[in-house]
Amino acid sequence: MPAGVYGHLSTARSPEGTPQFIVEADGAHIVDVDGNRYLDVMCGFGTNLLGYRHPDIDRAFTTQLGAADAMTGASPLSVELAEGYCTQVAHADWALFCKNGGDATSIALLTARAHRNRTKVLVAAGSYHGASTWSTPVPAGTLPVERGHFLPFAYNDPDSLRAAAAEAGDELAGIFVTPFRHDLGVPQELPDPDFARTARELCDEHDALLVLDDVRAGFRLARESSWHHLGVEPDVSCWGKSLANGHGLSAVMGNDRARAAAASIFVTGSFWHAAAPMAAALATLEVLRTTDYLEHLERLGDRLRTGLAAAAGRHGLALSQTGPVQMPLVMLLGDDGAPDQPRTRRFVSALMDRGVYFHPSHNMFLNAAMTEADIDGAVTAADEAFALVAAG
Ligand code: PMP
Repeated sequence: MPAGVYGHLSTARSPEGTPQFIVEADGAHIVDVDGNRYLDVMCGFGTNLLGYRHPDIDRAFTTQLGAADAMTGASPLSVELAEGYCTQVAHADWALFCKNGGDATSIALLTARAHRNRTKVLVAAGSYHGASTWSTPVPAGTLPVERGHFLPFAYNDPDSLRAAAAEAGDELAGIFVTPFRHDLGVPQELPDPDFARTARELCDEHDALLVLDDVRAGFRLARESSWHHLGVEPDVSCWGKSLANGHGLSAVMGNDRARAAAASIFVTGSFWHAAAPMAAALATLEVLRTTDYLEHLERLGDRLRTGLAAAAGRHGLALSQTGPVQMPLVMLLGDDGAPDQPRTRRFVSALMDRGVYFHPSHNMFLNAAMTEADIDGAVTAADEAFALVAAG
């Protein structure tokens, strides 16, 4: 591997003490190659929603493996799964499947441009939509022209959205937006309903497509798409991460308005029709529908937020805790009130030493296999870690 472990898991991007190689995962915990066990508050960067090795989901996966996985032809499970999502998700009139979130966002981009054969797409400055040539945050190896038709707006700022749409004019193909602001290293922001409605209205006015990138948050905030509670439905949504509770599957869903465009583009991947992850996704959907996983996540998230605030307060430390409680970003603040990354990294390293896997700049993820005792253990570890940081 040319730079060792790559991407967001790379050594360079991880605080000291972050384990690089994991050999076992079960429920809420992972074990590294040296035998250290961690409460995993990153959950595979969101792939694990209901607990590692969930018995029903993994049984569905292995049973399907025993019959067929990647084949010369699609599995009927893909139809069943598409129907499942169209029942579950209000705006979904169709669904198609791929492997990673970046596949889904690239399909959504093609769809938005194919819709009225236009070029310009609005994206929030700093938003992550994957690591394709058009979306990667690191420009090495890309051409400026590949990002030339994207116009930035400021998340949660309806005026900047209007200005960007005006600049795009007749060439506006679509607006890409994440359900909340979950950019790296800055406090997260929940969506302002006025901002969400403005995005919808602009797409309607311009006959452009509203694309909700739900890859990271999908089914962690709702049993629906993540803007459903605001009364704002996208035309196209991108999903990945948790869809099959850790098995490789992502999806694009869309409404009838976007159907012709989605049918017109050419997209494919050698493993996109693999059946075993779809069996896992169907089992995941069943758990989402029939359990209180979501309410459990919210309760645990509240408990963690309250516990961490009290612990930081005991040590006289200013703490920023932002985002939905089940996808928290926790950062220590400096005297100037801004996030203090070196201190936050020291805090996270001290937590790692105590068997709690946190992240200093990326939002974290709770999973439904976590218990109140796990959260209380994390808070106790944080109390000790705060004490070390406060001591300097
Ligand atoms: N969109 C968002 C919002 C994401 O968070 C991610 C991954 N973190 C992606 C797209 C890309 O997903 P993947 O890494 O599975 O390609």
